[in-house]
Amino acid sequence: MSFTTQTEDRYRTAGSLIRDLERLCGVLCVGCSTPLNHHQVLMAVATGFKDAPRCVPCLAAALDRDPAQLRDSLFEYIRHLECYAEAWNWANRVEQSPDGVMPVVAKLLIDSEPDSHQAASPGGAF
Ligand SMILES: [Zn+2]
Repeated sequence: MSFTTQTEDRYRTAGSLIRDLERLCGVLCVGCSTPLNHHQVLMAVATGFKDAPRCVPCLAAALDRDPAQLRDSLFEYIRHLECYAEAWNWANRVEQSPDGVMPVVAKLLIDSEPDSHQAASPGGAF
């Protein structure tokens, strides 16, 4: 399964992503009407849901994935694409978190975090 294609992502710039984050931050999830923060908007953009952004649990439902796993997979995906990584770090700075980490605000997107941390999906799954 793939999110947006690498080819498509190559035409994105960190600047355009950050403009999307600024524009879409606070919009309501089309699934459950939760206001989205910057990290959720970026994850929605990465999965191709930019025009109908969803929170992580609703993204997971739409994609038939486990929410925590989806969030972790997306974080890996985002970290490995330079423009997305830059936009993520921009959002981290808004949350006053260091670059390259998953801030608490993103961890808390998932209500029921399983205690036993599941193995990360193998690299290159997307
Ligand atoms: Zn939702």
